[in-house]
Amino acid sequence: MMPKRQSPIWHPFTQHALQDQMTRIVRGDGAYLHTADGRRIIDAISSWWVVTHGHCHPHIVSAIQEQAGKLNQIIFAGYTHEPAEEVAALLLKLAPRGLDYVFFSDSGSASVEVALKMALGYWHNIGRQRIRIVVMQHSYHGDTIGAMSVGARGVLNAAYGPLLFDVTSIPFPAKGLEQATLDALESACRNEIPAAFIVEPLILGAGGMLMYPTWVLREMKRICEASDVLFIADEVMTGWGRTGTLFACEQADVTPDIVCYSKGLTGGALPLAVTLCRADIFDAHYSKDRTRTFFHSSSYTANPVACAAAKANLSLWRNQETYARLASVAAMQEKQIEPFRADARFRNVRRMGTITALELKVRDEGYLANIGPKLQAFFNDRRLLLRPLGNTIYVMPPYSVTAADLNEIYAAINDAADALWRPEWTGHT
Ligand SMILES: *Cc1c(COP(=O)(O)O)cnc(C)c1O
Repeated sequence: MMPKRQSPIWHPFTQHALQDQMTRIVRGDGAYLHTADGRRIIDAISSWWVVTHGHCHPHIVSAIQEQAGKLNQIIFAGYTHEPAEEVAALLLKLAPRGLDYVFFSDSGSASVEVALKMALGYWHNIGRQRIRIVVMQHSYHGDTIGAMSVGARGVLNAAYGPLLFDVTSIPFPAKGLEQATLDALESACRNEIPAAFIVEPLILGAGGMLMYPTWVLREMKRICEASDVLFIADEVMTGWGRTGTLFACEQADVTPDIVCYSKGLTGGALPLAVTLCRADIFDAHYSKDRTRTFFHSSSYTANPVACAAAKANLSLWRNQETYARLASVAAMQEKQIEPFRADARFRNVRRMGTITALELKVRDEGYLANIGPKLQAFFNDRRLLLRPLGNTIYVMPPYSVTAADLNEIYAAINDAADALWRPEWTGHT
C-alpha cells in the first residue's frame, strides 16, 4: 500500500519513495535561500544553473514589476512589443557575429526542439533530403522527446527509448583522445550526409560537468562547415558567464549556425529561451508560399514580463562590473579547488570559468550511484544546496557568492569525503 502523502505535488527528477520531504523555501536573496523554519542555505548550484547574478536581483525585480502592470501577455504571431524587440537587438549585439534572427520560446528543451526544427526545415525547404542528426556521447539537451533523442541514452530515458529517433553519436573528446572525436565527426559528416551536429560547447553539464578544450570546439565547427553540416551550439547551461566568458563559443571564436540560450537569459528570474540562427536558415523559410512557414509556437512565446527580465539581465551584461565580478568568482573558485588536485580521495579535479567539478573515488559510479543521495543529505545538513551527479560533485554558484560562502562550501566537500569515503571503495586499499 502506498503511504498517504502530505502533498499532491509530483516533483521533477524526484523518487518520492526515497525522498518525500521537500525543503520549503520562502525567500531568496543573492546566493542565499531562506527556509520556512528559519534556516539560511547557500545556493551553490544557482538553483539548477539558472540564477546568475543572485536571487531577486533588484534591477531585474524592478523591471518585472514595471512590465507586469503594463502588458503581461500578448499573442506573438502578428504582434510584437518593445521588450522582445530590445532583447532581440541586444542579443544580436552580444552573441557571436554572423547570427541574424531570434526565435523565442520558454525553456531550454523547447529552444533545442526549435533548433532541430529550424535545421530540418532548412534542408526541406531548399529541397535537399537531410534528416540525420549527429550528437556527442554523454550529452544532455533536455527532457522532451526530441531533446532526449539527441541526448545520451540511459537510465533517464530507458522507458521512452523505443520512441526516440535514431542519431549518430561521436565519442566525448576525453583528454588524449580528442583526435578520435574529430575523426568520428569527419566520417559521420562524409558518410551520413547529416542535417546537423548538436553539441554543448566546452562543458557537458548533466553528463557530469565534462570539460573539453576550445581547439576541439573550433575543429568540430571547421569540420561541419567543410561538409555543409549545420552546427548547433546548445549554450543553455554554458551561456551567461558560466565558462568565464559571456558565451562559451566566443572562447573558440566560433559562430554557430544555430545557438540556444535559456537558463540565465532572465538572470534566472523567469522562464524564457531563444534560438538564434544565421540569415540563410531564416531565408529558406521566407517565401510567399505559406507551406514554407516555420510552424512552431508556444502560448507564451516572448512573454513580455519574461522579456523585461531578460532585457534587465542583458543590460547588466553591458556593464564592465559584471565581467569583473565574473573574473573574481573564477579566481576564487580556482583558489578553492586547487588543494583538491593533490587529494587522493578525488579524481578529475577541474575548473572552467566559474564552474568546478571533482569526482569522489568510489566503486559504485554513475548517476544512480548510492553515494549521490548520501552526499546530498550531508550537504543539506550543512545548509548547502549541492546536488551531486552521482559521485561527481560540482559547484556552480551565482556570481554574488562571497569568499566566505565558498569557504563553507569547500570545507563541507572536504568533510563529506572524510565522513563518506572509504579506501576500500576505490578497489585498492
Ligand atoms: C538544462 C539544459 C537544457 C534543458 O533546459 P530546460 O529549461 O530544463 O528545458 C538543455 N540543454 C542543456 C545543455 C541544459 O543544461
